[in-house]
Amino acid sequence: MASYRDLLKAAKASIREITPEDAEAQLGNAAFLDCRELDEWEQGAIPGAVFIPRGHLESKVENQLTEREKPVIIYCAAGNRSAFAAQTLEQLGYRDVVSMTGGFGRWKNEGRPWMTPAALNPEQRNRYHRHILLPEVGEEGQQKLLEAKVLLLGAGGLGSPAALYLAAAGVGTLGIVDMDVVDASNLQRQILHNVERVGERKVDSAKKTLTALNPDVNVVTYDVRFGADNILEILDGYDVVVDGTDNFPTRYLLNDASLLKRIPVVHGSIFRFEGQVTLFDPYNGPCYRCLLPEPPPPELAPSCAEAGVLGVLPGIVGSIQALEAMKVILDLGEPLRGRLLAYDALEESFRTFKVRRDPKCPACGENAQIVIAEYDDLCLPHAVLADGSETGH
Ligand SMILES: [Zn+2]
Repeated sequence: MASYRDLLKAAKASIREITPEDAEAQLGNAAFLDCRELDEWEQGAIPGAVFIPRGHLESKVENQLTEREKPVIIYCAAGNRSAFAAQTLEQLGYRDVVSMTGGFGRWKNEGRPWMTPAALNPEQRNRYHRHILLPEVGEEGQQKLLEAKVLLLGAGGLGSPAALYLAAAGVGTLGIVDMDVVDASNLQRQILHNVERVGERKVDSAKKTLTALNPDVNVVTYDVRFGADNILEILDGYDVVVDGTDNFPTRYLLNDASLLKRIPVVHGSIFRFEGQVTLFDPYNGPCYRCLLPEPPPPELAPSCAEAGVLGVLPGIVGSIQALEAMKVILDLGEPLRGRLLAYDALEESFRTFKVRRDPKCPACGENAQIVIAEYDDLCLPHAVLADGSETGH
């Protein structure tokens, strides 16, 4: 019967090893795989390393290291577990696998770069357990969500479900822009608020609800009118915008500013029994003006207040917006980039339509020049003179 020593010797004979010095020369080129246990990883690791404990290697590695041709450097604490791990990866068809001799201990002793990985605390590991179980999200994805910043325009029908779900999922910073106060007629669909909050500022009511749901979330409130004078400043630093506004001038203003800032916008709209969702990803897909170069005449586009909207419908549309925002943050699946999802509550049907980028788009086309300014009801782009100044408006 073989002893541990025999097994280790056989493993080391069948794989290739590399010194920490040669491994460091491959930083940024090869994938580094840390196969130690969680408590060891939390103490410090090689920057950029992928963490898969030895016990989960076979089940998790194919999801995390998808290219079998790419060089992989495996390390553990001293270089023994990584020898077995290297053997396993070769059996799984990875072509260029090496084990680092002396492990992280030697790497650190030799003064090579290392960092303390951002790690979830035990409460967070419990709270986000259903995320962590998904290999496509995992601890790393949860960390991304916690570091992400999403700006919600409106704490109303669409903003309510979007904010609740994003907060529950652990998006670390939620900015909310709304200048309204809670009205009893809002409560038919705006589930962030409640009877006790009638008369309160919507942003304050939203913050109370979201903080009670998840104290991990930093809720930043903007009790202002979103306008040309403040839009660029407010957008600054956000990763994604969830647009729950209900008027054309604000949508066009947001579109132009998000192009300038290159921040993706998850657009949502509702009308009576129907809803629409799409993702505007600046210069990687169509923008709002590619979809709708000009707003429809006012008599064809009554606002939500005039036309009515069925309760629950904003819950569906706003939830899809939240989901799309998470997909952007996690780089997951196929976002609604270049696709418009249309939902009909009466038919209970979803349809998607292709939306193409317009090369002549006045906002994102080749010769477009963006000027941030207030729009009137026509929402036309502001003409720019040759010297860069605006024409009278
Ligand atoms: Zn465009």
